[in-house]
Amino acid sequence: MMKLLVQLGLLLFVLFLLRRFIAAFVKSPNRAQKDGSSQDAGNRMVKDPVCGMYMDQRLAVKLEKRSEVVHFCSEECKNKYINKSSGGGVGTAAAG
Ligand SMILES: [Zn+2]
Repeated sequence: MMKLLVQLGLLLFVLFLLRRFIAAFVKSPNRAQKDGSSQDAGNRMVKDPVCGMYMDQRLAVKLEKRSEVVHFCSEECKNKYINKSSGGGVGTAAAG
């Protein structure tokens, strides 16, 4: 009588192992694909238009313009950019 129970248990155990094995086998290609390119989420590199330096988008100083966002390495570069693009007035009125 005891033998039957043991055999049943063994059968269940084998089935369980088989399922795990198949699951691992099916998962494998998915993993490989995920490892391929990690460009979508997280760290994107952006360029500072003033000094030309590349840095992480999250670390960059952001300047929101009308329709786009410009990134800078520091507040200094940001100020330079603002003065350059739209500082104050047109032309030079310097008196000699
Ligand atoms: Zn810069």
